[in-house]
Amino acid sequence: MIVLYILLVLTAFIALILAKKILQLKKGKKLADAEVAGMKISKLSSPGTVKSLSILPLVDYYSDNADLKTEPGVSYLISADNTNILLDVGFNKKKEHPSPLLHNMKTLGILPSDLDMIFFSHPHLDHVGGMAEQKEKTFSLSQGSVSLPNLPVYSPVMLSASRWNPGPETKVIKDPTIIKDGIVSIGVIPRYLFLMGHTLENSLAVNVAGKGIVLIIGCGHQTIERIIERTQALFDEPIYAIIGGLHYPVNGGRIMIGPLNIQRIVGSDKPPWVSIRESDVKSAIAAIKTVSPKIIALSPHDSSDWCINQFKQAFGNAYVDVNVGQKIVI
Ligand SMILES: [Zn+2]
Ligand SMILES: [Zn+2]
Repeated sequence: MIVLYILLVLTAFIALILAKKILQLKKGKKLADAEVAGMKISKLSSPGTVKSLSILPLVDYYSDNADLKTEPGVSYLISADNTNILLDVGFNKKKEHPSPLLHNMKTLGILPSDLDMIFFSHPHLDHVGGMAEQKEKTFSLSQGSVSLPNLPVYSPVMLSASRWNPGPETKVIKDPTIIKDGIVSIGVIPRYLFLMGHTLENSLAVNVAGKGIVLIIGCGHQTIERIIERTQALFDEPIYAIIGGLHYPVNGGRIMIGPLNIQRIVGSDKPPWVSIRESDVKSAIAAIKTVSPKIIALSPHDSSDWCINQFKQAFGNAYVDVNVGQKIVI
């Protein structure tokens, strides 16, 4: 009898929390959609170009090289002409020093002093270097001392300097911004996610002379449909490549607790019983096909093998694997 009573109370408690979360989701989604609709985005008058561009994944879920570490996080070294941009700093899930990022940088012969700037897509744990970092609104390249040059750090929200890599605080950029000739932040596109709440994410657009816009994306919570729409509103040039995370942990995921696919639940703007579905992947593929990119490379850190296979089938030779240590040359 007592057990039944406890079970009843527990069920009522869970139902109450869920009801509250669903209400918050409904309200938050409406607000985020209104925010997006209210943004006045105009064409960039002279975004400039770069002559050369390469993207070297330093942290992601897969690698062909056994000397490199992998994890469900993101850090890419973007070399645009002579500028080295670090997009995000990985997860460091095991709180190591050296972190997978530092280990891989060392193995690949990259020094922190080679970096010219850091660009954060968004402040989630798999991009700012850990759970504590997300909670404390900071970022760490490792869980031990890293000497960073006094470089600019851009983020859609304020991130304070970490004790592990003291130096500049982040400079917040929310509007579309030309960071350097040909290197553009497309500006935040807000989205309300179940559990993660109001999420501001930025992506980089690099305008490569004679080719077009190369989009480099962190988690893709904005949705690729809205990223494409934003890019077309900012540039006259065609979208040449789409590289990075689009968050489709469908029929599998990279962070599982028993049968629970955590990425699928936390990264969705729908209730958990709807969540991210096969139909969302199909819509994304259809949206990407409308711009016919020459290169499409999906980060495996937040998309399942099933989803990657769907992309491979849909894009054929244009599909490129994202593997740690394997440079994508544009
Ligand atoms: Zn992510
Ligand atoms: Zn995220």
